[in-house]
Amino acid sequence: MSELAYPYEAPASQALFDRAAAVTPGGVNSPVRAFGAVGGTPRFMVSGSGPYLTDADGREYVDLVCSWGPMILGHAHPEVIAAVQEAVARGTSFGTPAEGEVALAEAMVERVAPLEEVRLVSSGTEATMSAIRLARGFTRRTKVIKFAGCYHGHVDSLLAAAGSGVATFALPDTPGVTGAQASDTIVLPYNDLEAVHAAFAAHPGEIACLITEASPGNMGVVPPLPGFNQGLKDACAANGALFVSDEVMTGFRTSRAGWFGVEGVVPDLMTFGKVMGGGFPAAAFGGRADVMAHLAPAGPVYQAGTLSGNPVATAAGLAQLRLLDDAAYEKVNAVSARIQGLVTEALAKEGVAHTVQTASNMFSVFFTDRPVHRYEDAKAQDSFRFTAFFHSLLSNGVYLPPSSFESWFVSTAHDERAVQRIADALPAAARAAAEATA
Ligand SMILES: *Cc1c(COP(=O)(O)O)cnc(C)c1O
Repeated sequence: MSELAYPYEAPASQALFDRAAAVTPGGVNSPVRAFGAVGGTPRFMVSGSGPYLTDADGREYVDLVCSWGPMILGHAHPEVIAAVQEAVARGTSFGTPAEGEVALAEAMVERVAPLEEVRLVSSGTEATMSAIRLARGFTRRTKVIKFAGCYHGHVDSLLAAAGSGVATFALPDTPGVTGAQASDTIVLPYNDLEAVHAAFAAHPGEIACLITEASPGNMGVVPPLPGFNQGLKDACAANGALFVSDEVMTGFRTSRAGWFGVEGVVPDLMTFGKVMGGGFPAAAFGGRADVMAHLAPAGPVYQAGTLSGNPVATAAGLAQLRLLDDAAYEKVNAVSARIQGLVTEALAKEGVAHTVQTASNMFSVFFTDRPVHRYEDAKAQDSFRFTAFFHSLLSNGVYLPPSSFESWFVSTAHDERAVQRIADALPAAARAAAEATA
């Protein structure tokens, strides 16, 4: 598509993108940000406030990405900012233990019943990588089961048939991951318990763990069918493997206790990130105390981090968790439901085939009239309609994830004014989607 295909210009963002491309591969530090799937100029943001982002050209957008989930209270929430400023003034990193990391761990353990002990790290990738290592060390087995379309960060062994940016860019296997690393990973179709039972039967005594997104959001929102997660848990228990529930996206977002709080299936290990960091690099893995006891320095499985439990990040995360009471989740769920309703209404009016799928307040729109239960279903949608829909909304001040394989996120700050702006922008976007051609 030529630049002229877009109904507006973003000269300041384009200038920054050109500068970035000279010093950074593809001009971005995380692939989906480059707008590769939708084309056009990625917006370089300069500030965020509540439900809004402002770009380098001075245009304001209602943000439906929320930093891919973390900003559940909106941008620059005054109490989170105050906690950060107070922490920063006391120093930004000590390389020693400090009280903030204890307080954050306590807050997490208090909210999520299966979380008996937790280890803090700096990214979701580190959390899943470490959980897999711990599961292998604990079980003394090598193989890992994952599902196609589930994204667990850019861990070598988990980049097979991953979702998110890997889905967007259709990289089935990335160069740089060795055959040995990939061969220890068994990739199965999501929501297919028969395939799980068959894999355990084919590899008796070899499978260290099964890792799954608690409710997948990286192939769009594809919630587990009723009984699926319990079935996974039971299959793992019957075969001496650990059940690892990746709640990096869902944790402290889909409820006070994440997806566990919605469904109640008890995993052996869990991973967290995004919301728990309050917009800073903080993540965690944890679970059964007897398994966590295998982690250094208590046990033999090594894991470490210079900035793990960083005092500024933990202050931000703790301030955010403290503000996330039941009323906050009710608010986020309600505004999410309203926006879903508006999207459906606008698309239906234009006769655009679509399916809105939800997991608590996470949701996404698939341009197909068939329900999406697995990655293959997600890939079968009319993604070209999403591209037209995306650019129309962008030009009218609504910022969606720049890919049809991502969840949309809202916050407690998405108020009536923000919702109205979305409502005003939707009719033209729905028309653009209807008129789009492949
Ligand atoms: C975002 C995400 C990750 C990776 O977290 P990073 O902080 O980006 O490394 C892992 N798992 C899931 C489910 C995620 O959504």
